[in-house]
Amino acid sequence: MSKSQELFTEAKKIIPGGVNSPVRAFKAVGGNPPFMVRGKGSKIVDADGKEYVDFVASWGPLILGHAHPEIIEALSATMKNGTSFGAPTELEVDLAKAIIHAVPSMDMVRLVNSGTEATMSAIRLARGYTKRDKILKFEGCYHGHADGLLVKAGSGAATLGVPDSPGVTAGLAKDTLTLPYNDLAKVKELFEREGDSIACIILEPIAGNMGVIPPVDGYLQGLRELTQSHGTLLIFDEVISGFRVAYGGAQELFGITPDLTCLGKIIGGGLPVGAFGGKRELMEQMAPVGPVYQAGTLSGNPLAVTAGLKMLEILGREGFYDALEEKAKKFTDGLAANVKESGIPVFMTRVGSIFCSFFREGEVVDFASAAGSDTARFGKYFSEMLSSGIYIAPSQFEAGFVSDAHTEEDLDKALEAHRKALKSL
Ligand SMILES: *Cc1c(COP(=O)(O)O)cnc(C)c1O
Repeated sequence: MSKSQELFTEAKKIIPGGVNSPVRAFKAVGGNPPFMVRGKGSKIVDADGKEYVDFVASWGPLILGHAHPEIIEALSATMKNGTSFGAPTELEVDLAKAIIHAVPSMDMVRLVNSGTEATMSAIRLARGYTKRDKILKFEGCYHGHADGLLVKAGSGAATLGVPDSPGVTAGLAKDTLTLPYNDLAKVKELFEREGDSIACIILEPIAGNMGVIPPVDGYLQGLRELTQSHGTLLIFDEVISGFRVAYGGAQELFGITPDLTCLGKIIGGGLPVGAFGGKRELMEQMAPVGPVYQAGTLSGNPLAVTAGLKMLEILGREGFYDALEEKAKKFTDGLAANVKESGIPVFMTRVGSIFCSFFREGEVVDFASAAGSDTARFGKYFSEMLSSGIYIAPSQFEAGFVSDAHTEEDLDKALEAHRKALKSL
């Protein structure tokens, strides 16, 4: 038995499914997950010494790759002064400034510990501000695991076939309205009926948890106009897209200004962080200025904030996103050429350095079309890639991430593995 298998067997006895987040367990693709011991740049090494080129990037945060020397150095320096105070620090002010400076719609921001906390708190704020209960989310979008958001949810919930989790009360589920992604006409219809009782629309401006699905032309603009005319807040969940598709996220890329924005992943530089923010008028509803309560013992943690600050500093350097775009485009063009050669039906999407290959004929624009993918074929493809030393997410419904750390050699190796994998299907 491999060391990873041994560890997994042991883990399953004491941690449900052996993992602390469900998709890590490889349930959708079969086999045992390798346990990781270290990472450097684009590569990770498992407990049995096998090396992989990593396209999961800790599910998005590691846009600079693993153990970036400047981030490690900054962390080491901060760590010496203590790891948590539960009192304000200058580092938090610096990160807040960096975020607000980058994200067009944000006048103020509050730091939390995860994307889940960010979306949960932003929705509480939207409800508190509008004095309305209902929210609208879209099928296959994932906004973390807060109760009211596990309705028709993406990510692991979709992968494991439990988009509507037990344990969510009927009352909460009733206040979460859902519609298909990318269908503006349906939102218009709903808003004609009950727009004035909807507190907010929350969405991923680029869907990244049912595979990757970009918004169709006019969709985000249409949502912006509809929400504005009904006094409904528009929340962009940019936990993946923030600082990923552009320094200012999807809102910069598409030129749409949401009322509130949720961030996570990249802004923690690989440590646990989330944030939500927006217009001053809204954010001043938060305690202790206003009545909407939200708190966190470790929020604004010095280590997490240090990693995030250094990360944002590096991302802000001249030409970073142009270079990443070029690299990702060249790579996905290579994937597309392999697909064409193989004759296997695959629908590919990419926005910046986020990409996805849906194993199906025809376009993918929403959850229904994503769900029409051949997941058994994906599973075989996944296993082939893994055994060739290419680590991709163990689910058809997750994104792939190109990082600044991927070298030409890494990407060539991945393309060769991809070509071979497609041939074997
Ligand atoms: C990952 C993710 C979340 C949840 O973030 P956690 O840090 O896992 O709680 C929320 N929204 C989106 C779009 C995400 O991709």
